[in-house]
Amino acid sequence: MKAAVLREPADISKRPLQISEVPQPEVQPGQVLLRVRACGVCRTDLHIVEGELPVRLKGLIPGHQIVGDVVAGATPEIPVGTRVGVSWIGGTDGECWYCQHDAENLCDSPTFTGYTVNGGYAEYALARADFVFPLPAALDDLHAAPLLCAGIIGFRALRVAGVRHGENVGLFGFGASAHLAIAVLKAWNCKVYVSTRGESHRRLAASLGAEWVGSENDKPPVALDRAITFAPSGNVVIAALASLRKGGVVAINAIHLDRIPQFDYDRLLWGERQLRSVTNMTRDDARDFLQIANEIALRPKVTAFPLDQANQALLAVKNDSIDGAAVIIP
Ligand SMILES: [Zn+2]
Ligand SMILES: [Zn+2]
Repeated sequence: MKAAVLREPADISKRPLQISEVPQPEVQPGQVLLRVRACGVCRTDLHIVEGELPVRLKGLIPGHQIVGDVVAGATPEIPVGTRVGVSWIGGTDGECWYCQHDAENLCDSPTFTGYTVNGGYAEYALARADFVFPLPAALDDLHAAPLLCAGIIGFRALRVAGVRHGENVGLFGFGASAHLAIAVLKAWNCKVYVSTRGESHRRLAASLGAEWVGSENDKPPVALDRAITFAPSGNVVIAALASLRKGGVVAINAIHLDRIPQFDYDRLLWGERQLRSVTNMTRDDARDFLQIANEIALRPKVTAFPLDQANQALLAVKNDSIDGAAVIIP
């Protein structure tokens, strides 16, 4: 099969992914083999490919927002031909303290799709049968793919931030995840305040119903109940904290941050403001979000790339040169 293989992490401008012919993977007990229909491109893929996350598997095939048809390893619940989604959380041990306490996103020995095992930048991919999600027919391949990490993790961020219906919510950064989260927030009658760099991202936020849109240096005009940061920058976390009301929550949606600068505790955190990180996702997050996405007919903005252009797709994500999400079609 054809796949995009990471030989050695490097700056994406050096095209570290090689488009190669590799053996089609063989299905093992408990797994399904998927014919990949589409695979979303996530900023985490960029961190993996550029080596900001340590190498966990040599000759890795990245990609963790997979839409595929079950072609082998079917179970009674997911017969051959079922169209399913696979996300970043590719498996858990089911045994550690976190798995036993309803927090499988924090599992001590998780499997990550497209990182610790091969992912979906390929014509075929394996997945654990109990970690795939049947997809509603209303969501087509191209538009379902970005929901599977960007969408689910954005939704989890809303949960971690404790968003309630009708609240004032700030989104700091407006990439793939945020532009899906805003749709859920609108469905919950929240007022959404978006701070982001890039004129096209600001236009997109306004067109998707943001109450207010500003640059990364502008402060929202109201004190926020909740704020979610999507930009991989600690300065943005400080800007979000500075926009909160007392008792408000900032949820940091980033697997990697440059650093968080020193900040004034008395002014920014005192008053029972909270700073939380968002880590991975549970299967319940995935199922609940996909149901909401179906109900509100969520259609992400997408740009499709053929598998041969996997490097270009990642470069586009790095440069913020496309609105919404990049999706690879093998
Ligand atoms: Zn566990
Ligand atoms: Zn992701």
